[in-house]
Amino acid sequence: MSGNDYDELHTATIITSFENKHNQFILKQQQLYKKKLEYIQMLNNINEEIITIEKNIENNCLHHFDQHNYIEEREDGMYGEVFRVCNRCNNTC
Ligand SMILES: [Zn+2]
Repeated sequence: MSGNDYDELHTATIITSFENKHNQFILKQQQLYKKKLEYIQMLNNINEEIITIEKNIENNCLHHFDQHNYIEEREDGMYGEVFRVCNRCNNTC
């Protein structure tokens, strides 16, 4: 084997080694992107469910009592603002 042959083989070995490792990383990266998208979709679904359940809690109060029973409360702190909250379902207005 001449020196040139050795150099070419050595270079080819490095390239193959690089590509093997690179492809492993790319595969793992794609798996993580896919998993991330799945979790984002799950999070979006949970947020939609939370909005729905909050609406259900409010409607349950209106269904049984026709209207909310708002009382005034003050935010924590010395200069907290006054706000109105239903003392049955915690709906604010
Ligand atoms: Zn209410």
